[in-house]
Amino acid sequence: MGAKADTSVDAYQLIKLVDIGSFSRSRKYLEMKTYSGSCHCKKVKFEIRSNSISEDTYRCDCSLCLKKAIVMKAEHKSHFNLIDGVEQLSSYKWNKMIAEHFFCKNCGVYTHHKRRRDPQQICINFACLDDVEMPNDANIGFADGANHD
Ligand SMILES: [Zn+2]
Repeated sequence: MGAKADTSVDAYQLIKLVDIGSFSRSRKYLEMKTYSGSCHCKKVKFEIRSNSISEDTYRCDCSLCLKKAIVMKAEHKSHFNLIDGVEQLSSYKWNKMIAEHFFCKNCGVYTHHKRRRDPQQICINFACLDDVEMPNDANIGFADGANHD
């Protein structure tokens, strides 16, 4: 499964640091923190690196996300690592078959998906993060998924 094979974090990090000219932006990159996440039964575990974990979160009104009622957080796929449970993951695709939504076969919880609008990005289910609570004043965005189902 693609998520497991993507272990290029270190390489990507080096490229980022070379690419970024300004000290302030490279510093911001280095300040990224790693957050752990899991499904309900904990068979699926992942990590995500972010310097703004509760920013740029969003809901989506596509026909699938409406039924899941989730808040998501997008990061570049190189910031996502599947730690455990690749054999427990099943995925769901529909319509244009671009987005791929992963969920645990055992407990049924959606953990993450590959984005349709940018396949270089992974979105995680914010509620799967183990030690992160959504701030009360979080500015949760909105993706107009209904028009792109
Ligand atoms: Zn599970």
